[in-house]
Amino acid sequence: MKVLQEYLEALAECASIAPPQRQERLLLSYAELRFQRKGGGRCAICQTTVRHVLRVRAEREPGVVLEYACLCHRCLQAERALSTRVVLSLGQAQVTYHGNLPALLPDVN
Ligand SMILES: [Zn+2]
Repeated sequence: MKVLQEYLEALAECASIAPPQRQERLLLSYAELRFQRKGGGRCAICQTTVRHVLRVRAEREPGVVLEYACLCHRCLQAERALSTRVVLSLGQAQVTYHGNLPALLPDVN
């Protein structure tokens, strides 16, 4: 099974990659494996077909959290622009992106 072999190769390669990229790479490899076995999904916002089905949790501001079963690349980029934090997950694997907006509150360190 070619896709499983690619996933295992990605796991092996990831040992030498820095943690943030490693998590992203593993998540996408896992999503690709799922696509090959179960097919893709549809974007929760625009209904576009999506290859890599990843749950999206977007934190817009304190207390405002939006969750989507799946988003297309374009809608995901829009959420990243509007959110302070976006978490993609598939099973136990997850990747966190910090949004493009400046933090609403200054860091207190
Ligand atoms: Zn979309």
